[in-house]
Amino acid sequence: MALIVQKFGGTSVGSPERIKNVAARVAKFLTQGHQLVVVVSAISGETNRLLALAKEVQPEPDPRELDVVLATGEQVTIGLLCMALLERGIKARSYNGAQVRILTDGAHTKARILKIDEERMRADLAAGTVVVVAGFQGVDADGNITTLGRGGSDTTGVALAAALKADECQIYTDVDGVYTTDPRIVPEARRLESVTFEEMLEMASLGSKVLQIRSVEFAGKYKVRLRVLSSFQDEGEGEGTLITFEDDAKMEQAVISGIAFNRDEAKITVMRVPDRPGIAYAILGPIGEANIDVDMIIQNAGVDGMTDFSFTVHRNEYQKALDVLNKQVKGHIKASDIRGDPKICKVSMVGVGMRTHAGIASRMFRTLSEEGINIQMISTSEIKISVVIDEKYMELAVRALHKAFELDQPA
Ligand code: ASP
Ligand code: MG
Repeated sequence: MALIVQKFGGTSVGSPERIKNVAARVAKFLTQGHQLVVVVSAISGETNRLLALAKEVQPEPDPRELDVVLATGEQVTIGLLCMALLERGIKARSYNGAQVRILTDGAHTKARILKIDEERMRADLAAGTVVVVAGFQGVDADGNITTLGRGGSDTTGVALAAALKADECQIYTDVDGVYTTDPRIVPEARRLESVTFEEMLEMASLGSKVLQIRSVEFAGKYKVRLRVLSSFQDEGEGEGTLITFEDDAKMEQAVISGIAFNRDEAKITVMRVPDRPGIAYAILGPIGEANIDVDMIIQNAGVDGMTDFSFTVHRNEYQKALDVLNKQVKGHIKASDIRGDPKICKVSMVGVGMRTHAGIASRMFRTLSEEGINIQMISTSEIKISVVIDEKYMELAVRALHKAFELDQPA
């Protein structure tokens, strides 16, 4: 007997029929003797609908009240799933985040989980009851309803698994696992049987949308055994992708596990600034104060005491960043010009094997040059290499790299 936390995403509960399918899957696991905690998202599209509704009433919705509105989506699906289970004669009880008591900080719309009370869930499980919990939400110390950021139900699932020391956390979604890259761009993309937690963390932060990044952080911190599977396949048909810990991985790892890409960034260059101490701070200090996150940063070697300074920000914050620089920075540091390009993208190769294999970067750069793609920025870490290129070459770059590194072949 195992204690399993299963999380079902919005498409998996997208209609009454699908909710009944989820109940059928839960029933199968029960007959195998497992204890189950089930976390659900809102019906797909519902959170977007609620957000749009809120904005129609208040263009910049009050964060506390926005959370009150957004949290309703998941409340609907927990009730419906319990009904479907009860209808099959299965004991089930639903709980919203506050009822479980998923305690979070007070950062509305992006709250972090601090503590989870398990007593109620444990008592239900001991009585043979399926516990159904609303994803994406919690409650702060003052009793305010909070939400965990878009995609936050993944984090609820992993956090519950950590709190209950579950044997496995299964994330059911509309894809049957983690792929070498997005199959919509590269049809030859291959499902990975396993991927290390660190690779998954990089992929999530570099633009792969399979798991919310916080859920992966959580899984790493609490060593939760995490698996991504499809809810549209029959059980046993697919094993999905297991997120492993590098030390436990017995098999020889592939050098590259995947290629991630992200069109959400924009590049900004501050031209000809004096090359002296404090310049990076003079530029990025005001950007940080304006709460704009910076991703890649490049400063050129100085020539004649002057240098250029480039960085990337989220595309949504591009205009805001330009405004900050033009108003607060340009004159102050006597930059000759501020230029920007919102039509860029970032393509990244990820793999723990990079630690022990030389020459990955040069092979990547050669592949891009053979396609005539200009690299605008480069950044590396131990297990990833990212390049910024013109957005219009994104698909070409991803396809060429996928082929050059033979990611379509089993490792
Ligand atoms: N319903 C929320 C969203 O759409 C949370 C989730 O689905 O994970 O972001
Ligand atoms: Mg999701």
